[in-house]
Amino acid sequence: MLPDRWTPYVSDDGIRIGLVPRGEEFIVQRSLCFGRYGRISAFVHCKQLPDDHEFFSSVQHVELTPDTVGEFCENMLKSVSYFRSFEVCTGVTAFEKEWRRSPSSEVDLNRFKETRYEKCCRSADCVMLVKSVKIRRCHNCCKLWRILWRHDQKAASDKTPEKGMNFSKMNTPQKRKAYLREQRKSHRLHVENRRLKKKIEELVDKNGVDIDSDLSKTLSELLNKKEVLEKLTPIQAIFIQQQLKAAEAKSPYAVRWHPAIVRLALTIRMTSPKAYEELQGLLRLPSERQLHDYSHVFQAKGAPP
Ligand SMILES: [Zn+2]
Repeated sequence: MLPDRWTPYVSDDGIRIGLVPRGEEFIVQRSLCFGRYGRISAFVHCKQLPDDHEFFSSVQHVELTPDTVGEFCENMLKSVSYFRSFEVCTGVTAFEKEWRRSPSSEVDLNRFKETRYEKCCRSADCVMLVKSVKIRRCHNCCKLWRILWRHDQKAASDKTPEKGMNFSKMNTPQKRKAYLREQRKSHRLHVENRRLKKKIEELVDKNGVDIDSDLSKTLSELLNKKEVLEKLTPIQAIFIQQQLKAAEAKSPYAVRWHPAIVRLALTIRMTSPKAYEELQGLLRLPSERQLHDYSHVFQAKGAPP
């Protein structure tokens, strides 16, 4: 018995057994032709396989005579069974934009209703059948895949990634371009930052107001007054008191910081170490060492002693 969808018919050159897909249209995807003198020919998509194809290495050739009818039929079934173990090469299904660019290839629009692919590009030397269902393409189509991949990479490398494009969706050349673009942007911002800092320093030198020691003293007295402090929020009052105390302290390490100030300092320090460093140049704040001591008073649960 022949397997499902394998149909025998007689042609000019012998008995043919062909595989037809499901559907109303009669298309022969692949076929074997058994000649009277024992010659076996194989066809895939109406193209004859060359005699050195892997398939022919394991088939027998049985001549048809009145004495060998049984053996001839048995050999047909065996050959069909072996032929079925091969699968059609899927060619290259990716890089569709590059298909027309390779001269040694042809586009297969799946006229023969194969189920392994919808359309593909094949090498001109495609051997059409591969030995296992796990193998997608023949060695010649693998070579074509590499050629088309290189074309695709080159085309992509020529294309600059759009701004805001997700980094994970870029290919390697695009990532390199995006990285260089970000590096240039970072450099520009760095230069701009330096220029603005210099400008601010110049403006402060030119237009800044000097606070003389008398005025400073008056400010200290004013801020120490109870009625002034009452108008401030608790955290503002604590902050100003701590600033005055720190200013009077002989050593920065001699200051006992209020927990609210420590918490504020830790929050700023954790959010932006650079901003904290800048603020330290402007205000009296706990030092890095003090913050470390405060934040390590309680050992974290599970941390090594
Ligand atoms: Zn192939």
